[in-house]
Amino acid sequence: MKLNLNIVPLSSWLNTGKEPLIISGPCSAETEEQLLATAHLLAATGKVSVLRAGIWKPRTRPGEFEGIGSIGLEWLKRAKEETGLPTAVEVATAKHVEEALAGGVDILWVGARSTANPFTVQEIADALKGVDIPVLVKNPINPDLALWIGALERINNAGITKLGAIHRGFSSYEKTSFRNEPMWDLAIQLKTIAPDLPIVNDPSHICGNRELIPYISQKALDLDMQGLMIESHIDPSVAWTDAKQQLTPAALAELVERLTLRKADSDNPVFDDQLATLRSEIDKLDTAIIQKIGERMKIVEKIGEFKRDNNVTILQVSRWDEIVEKRTGMASALSLDKDFTVKFLELVHNESIRKQNEIMNKKPSVEA
Ligand code: PEP
Ligand code: MN
Repeated sequence: MKLNLNIVPLSSWLNTGKEPLIISGPCSAETEEQLLATAHLLAATGKVSVLRAGIWKPRTRPGEFEGIGSIGLEWLKRAKEETGLPTAVEVATAKHVEEALAGGVDILWVGARSTANPFTVQEIADALKGVDIPVLVKNPINPDLALWIGALERINNAGITKLGAIHRGFSSYEKTSFRNEPMWDLAIQLKTIAPDLPIVNDPSHICGNRELIPYISQKALDLDMQGLMIESHIDPSVAWTDAKQQLTPAALAELVERLTLRKADSDNPVFDDQLATLRSEIDKLDTAIIQKIGERMKIVEKIGEFKRDNNVTILQVSRWDEIVEKRTGMASALSLDKDFTVKFLELVHNESIRKQNEIMNKKPSVEA
């Protein structure tokens, strides 16, 4: 499936001269001094293309700092006048959209909590009808690709063609070293079905801490994402929101300096030749794997008929345990990751069960 979005290239609405594309600024605009000082230092690094700042903040519990509100738009305007950096804010209601547009904000983004709610996204989309402004849509809080796509479609249907996505990770019950699990496969799936849609990675919200930000930033670039949104504060230790995941402008500059930029293609013919040879080996192996899986499924079908005719259950836990144990042992001797092997076996096993179920519940043709 390919997504049918009506979009224009990123380079037509943003100066993409600086690579990688960096969107940075504080999680929240707190005071005029804090915003202006951060903006000036970020601009001075020469590495930042867009200044971000949260003006209206979605907070989990009431009573916490919920954003400075509309006054922050004036500070942002001043920051833009003084630094030349285009500005970006999060909008979550029609009123936010109206105020941000009136305040001269250059780019809007839809936050993760809003993307998860189609009513909210539709309200934002309706407020954007007839407006020509770039909009970035963060992934929803929960790992649901359809919700992310749905939000992009709603905004696009409102006539927004300067569109992009932000990958900020997903909430997960399991506690890991990330604040929000990257679940890269969801961003990769989005990229696969909408190859022209720019995707910016947000390492700050994925990591929830400064330490992991370089690792996630590099990985995002290696996956050919179009840019990074990283929170930066003049003094992160006293930030009113998301203190642990913001970098000083100097640390941000150092991080960007250390990133390795790779291209989607090479212009070296020797590399291209070697890559083509290796890819043809992969093609052969993939063909062999699929052929073998086909052969395996034929035997599964025979077993299914055999079990049906002898009234034996499809699932035999002891056999499954034995398969997992033997195969993972073999796989680890070949340096294959255990998790990967188990997932692969489960996939094959589930398909085998589905096939056998089909066979069990189909009346034998002899009765006809
Ligand atoms: C933010 O960018 O500060 C923010 C609130 O992000 P998210 O919607 O990803 O939680
Ligand atoms: Mn934040």
